[in-house]
Amino acid sequence: MREGSLEAPTRHPLDWRNPEFYEQAKVEQELGRVFDICHGCRRCVNLCTAFPTLFDLVDASSTMEVDGVAKQDYWKVVDQCYLCDMCYMTKCPYVPPHPWNVDFPHLMLRAKAIKFRKGIKFRDRLLSSTDALGKLAAIPVVAQTVNALNKNGLARTVLQSALGVHKDRELPPYTSNKFRSNFEPSPSFPVKDGKNAPGKVAIFSTCYVNYNEPGMGHDLLALLDHNEIPYVVVEKEACCGMPKFELGDLEAVDRLKQINIPVLARVAKEGYAILTPVPSCTLMFKQELPLMYPDDAQTLAVRDAMFDPFEYFVLRRKDGLLKTDFKTPLGKVSYHIPCHSRVQNMGQKTREMLEAIPGTAVSTVERCAGHDGTWGVKAEYFANSMKIGRPVFRQMAEPQPDYVASDCPIAARHIRQGMGDEAQAAEKAHPLSLLRKAYGI
Ligand code: SF4
Ligand code: SF4
Repeated sequence: MREGSLEAPTRHPLDWRNPEFYEQAKVEQELGRVFDICHGCRRCVNLCTAFPTLFDLVDASSTMEVDGVAKQDYWKVVDQCYLCDMCYMTKCPYVPPHPWNVDFPHLMLRAKAIKFRKGIKFRDRLLSSTDALGKLAAIPVVAQTVNALNKNGLARTVLQSALGVHKDRELPPYTSNKFRSNFEPSPSFPVKDGKNAPGKVAIFSTCYVNYNEPGMGHDLLALLDHNEIPYVVVEKEACCGMPKFELGDLEAVDRLKQINIPVLARVAKEGYAILTPVPSCTLMFKQELPLMYPDDAQTLAVRDAMFDPFEYFVLRRKDGLLKTDFKTPLGKVSYHIPCHSRVQNMGQKTREMLEAIPGTAVSTVERCAGHDGTWGVKAEYFANSMKIGRPVFRQMAEPQPDYVASDCPIAARHIRQGMGDEAQAAEKAHPLSLLRKAYGI
């Protein structure tokens, strides 16, 4: 048998409808098999806290092998995984088609699905209901009250003991000026399809843009407008399902899929490029839903029409259909590429686009920042999340940047928090906002 695979990694569909998927004995057997391979390899030791947890368990066991670790302790490893996919994508030589068939994140997902069926905390159910939470928190007056309480030390202490949301985690504000109720309709431009990307765009705005940072969505529309690309905002949307997926709640993912996919498949069929401004949501449509529904034509059509916004802009530039009339240099930008952008296998499109702006020096940090969706918000994981992020905070601060940017707005908030006083002058800005600023629009 060859040591490590030379072929491009492939991924097996998720067999989530098969009752065997949820059989604890079978999953523990597979966990034991894969943990044994990982113990002999240990390449991923510095990626997250899941691997150090595993290796510590092995090293402390009587046999110093996986067979000496109690099966109930396997679940401690599962708890530390937040499904960033980095071990699969960047380290593991044993992923399929290698016969050892190691897909560590999807094995963790299977274990999480079992945990979910056994019952989870109210806090986890609440935090992963981004759409319902957003709808409630974005009601006028409620939004102001929630935002004020989120900044109040006493209220946060109560929130930590009642719900397990760490009191020191800086939380994003909610807005009552939701993106989907306040966007400017597209002027009517002729559709100019390029060789590499369609000439009209449908926006899946995401819960985060709709309820927390609508400015990012308006910036995206301004960029399309400036480049004379006609757009629509999809008529109806629910959460993409990623927060429920990360929790192992695959039935909820299915319910959300039933809402989103028919609407998105319709615009895909009409020839729109679908743009989703949050990398985790883009990844959900590009990778995870197609693996859950490998034979569903609509899901695959959505996958094929789905673009990261910067992937789309770079393709338009390649087609000679993107304006380059930049007016404002950006100076020094510390840019973090999030795991869920890297996993999309598209290259560093945001960096490429920002580097095309004259008077802009981009320093790129390609490492997990450790927040990952709702994981780094939880009281029991907050410290680990800040620990994992420490090298990123340091590297982002090093160039003494004018701007701190990440495609993932949640990671950006976490990074800015971790940089602390080291980078007083650095302004947090989403790459879409920076591109808009560079155009002077
Ligand atoms: S998916 Fe990410 S968090 Fe999970 S084990 Fe792999 S590297 Fe760690
Ligand atoms: S996931 Fe792969 S690369 Fe990482 S420790 Fe396990 S076997 Fe090694």
